[in-house]
Amino acid sequence: MDDMLFRNAMGRFASGITVITTEVEGEVHGMTANAFMSVSLQPKLVVVSIREQAHMLEQIKKSQKYAVNILASDQQELSINFAGQIKEKIDVSFDRLNGLPVLKGSLAQVTCEVVNKHVEGDHTLFIGKVTAIHLEEGEPLLYFNGKYRTLAVEEV
Ligand code: FAD
Repeated sequence: MDDMLFRNAMGRFASGITVITTEVEGEVHGMTANAFMSVSLQPKLVVVSIREQAHMLEQIKKSQKYAVNILASDQQELSINFAGQIKEKIDVSFDRLNGLPVLKGSLAQVTCEVVNKHVEGDHTLFIGKVTAIHLEEGEPLLYFNGKYRTLAVEEV
């Protein structure tokens, strides 16, 4: 099957956007990801899927921890930055949650400890046990068909 057909089909699944963050020996690393989902309520588990070429793969293998930052509608620049789509690295300031770096202003910050990993094809799924959550109010940044979107606000 054609790769582009597969990509186009998956792109029809509208999603939010996250930046996955972790830290190894004092160095913070972030990566934009929309392959994220909730897995279990008891215990509280989530999963992220990281492609084999991503630097993030080695970082999470080393730290065995990660945070999921669910982006707000005004954080598109951060998504573009952490997807490596702008040349000049921007200066990002991080808050801390449960010892992990998290992005200020994201709608939800969820810290996790890796409890399992599954290599599937060219991606690795990291199952994370949730260790802390911080919520902020706001509207989400969305992604559909390869483009950023925001929710339409309907007057009632
Ligand atoms: P790098 O390419 O080394 O880093 C990514 C970027 O983040 C670089 O520009 C770097 O300068 C910047 N950066 C890293 N740390 C910091 C810091 N501390 N301060 C400031 N900037 C920093 N890939 C997946 O594997 N899974 C997905 O689910 C996924 N979903 C995606 C969804 C969208 C909408 C997009 C646009 C991309 C997605 N990607 C996904 C692709 C992924 O974001 C890119 O391939 C990314 O560049 C891979 O990151 P890396 O770990 O190799 O790190």
